[in-house]
Amino acid sequence: MCIACRESEGKRTLLRLVRVADGVELDETGKRAGRGAYIHPQAGCWERAISGSMLQKALRTKISAENQESLSASVSELLASAV
Ligand SMILES: [Zn+2]
Repeated sequence: MCIACRESEGKRTLLRLVRVADGVELDETGKRAGRGAYIHPQAGCWERAISGSMLQKALRTKISAENQESLSASVSELLASAV
């Protein structure tokens, strides 16, 4: 289920974000160990997830400003390359 719009979809089409020791990272393989959250690979869903506390709640962790920035950069890059 996408944490931003709460619509479910096959896992293959969703982006996975994973909680790591020092924050949250984009899991491009979808196979990394750790608590994960899924979002649609769409700017709208991503912005909703990151601007609110949805992502932090889903992963039960705090996301620092630096972490949010680098995460946003990886996701934007991925969204851009997917088009
Ligand atoms: Zn969504």
